Amino acid sequence: VREGAEDSPTRPSTMTKVKLTHPDRIYWPQEGVTKEGLANYYSEVWRFIAPHIVGRPLALVRCPTGITGETFFQKHAWKGINSSIRQFSDPTAPDEEPFLGVDDIDGLIGLVQSATLEIHPWGSTTADWERPDRIIMDLDPGDGIEWPEVIDAALEVRQRLEQSGLSAFLKTSGGKGLHVVSPLTPDADWAAVKAFTKGLADVMATDKPERYVSTITKSKRRGKILIDYLRNQRGATAVAPYSPRARPGAGVSTPIDWAELSPEIGPAHFTVENIPKRLAALTADPWGDFRKAAAPLEPPAGARRRKR
Ligand code: ATP
Ligand code: MN
Ligand code: MN
Repeated sequence: VREGAEDSPTRPSTMTKVKLTHPDRIYWPQEGVTKEGLANYYSEVWRFIAPHIVGRPLALVRCPTGITGETFFQKHAWKGINSSIRQFSDPTAPDEEPFLGVDDIDGLIGLVQSATLEIHPWGSTTADWERPDRIIMDLDPGDGIEWPEVIDAALEVRQRLEQSGLSAFLKTSGGKGLHVVSPLTPDADWAAVKAFTKGLADVMATDKPERYVSTITKSKRRGKILIDYLRNQRGATAVAPYSPRARPGAGVSTPIDWAELSPEIGPAHFTVENIPKRLAALTADPWGDFRKAAAPLEPPAGARRRKR
């Protein structure tokens, strides 16, 4: 790490033993965000991102020469992978290539050292690969859709999730849409979770066919919002809360409070540059109760579903 970062108390060198090579390499040219800048960003958000990435198989978007260069979406190790990145096998496929993960800040900064700009975890953990501990409903606006319509979609998804006894948390995607996320106690298996989320997407598309679609046929998407439930199957991934996006603007997928949902906060409003200030100014973490709010997908047999 170069001189000049001494006055930043969270600069990675104080928190990690991982050395950055080429710290001045530019990852987001328009914003001038460098590799070292990204490491500093990740150090700032470590305690917020950790619960969502530690102990999970991760897919990575790697951009060795920045967002304008070649991009690799990787689920497995590459030549020269940083040694602080964990590798572990899928218990149901022990002979296949190991998956990647992080245990600690060294692992996270190891990802930065390996030019990882986006982090996409699974919806289950290595403690129980077969039982997801969250649902994610990915709202993808097609051309011609205005932001207030995406807001309405998120509110409707929230209401439907809550009617099913789940809590619903919100994040921007850092790209074009919103993600509504429900923490689960890991009881139901992937098949049940996928069926539930497909049911939710299908019922929205059936109720308002002029507004929503639940299948990815792009030709049908103009003027519609895709309720993309396919993040909810074994092996599927979705961008992590607080992961930046390898797109112009250096947007970050950002947890927000439902009360913040407004035309002023678009999908890429929060960025690598303004998140640290936002976190410092927040009086309450909008996802502070995320894990505490976990509920089973199906209520225990005989129990009445609690209305929230
Ligand atoms: P946006 O708001 O722009 O839709 P998003 O993160 O929701 O942002 P999507 O295109 O809706 O983006 O979803 C892409 C998802 O597909 C990601 O969450 C990612 O985990 C997964 N994925 C699978 N293969 C790839 C790939 N080759 N490149 C990028 N993402 C991939
Ligand atoms: Mn999306
Ligand atoms: Mn999608």
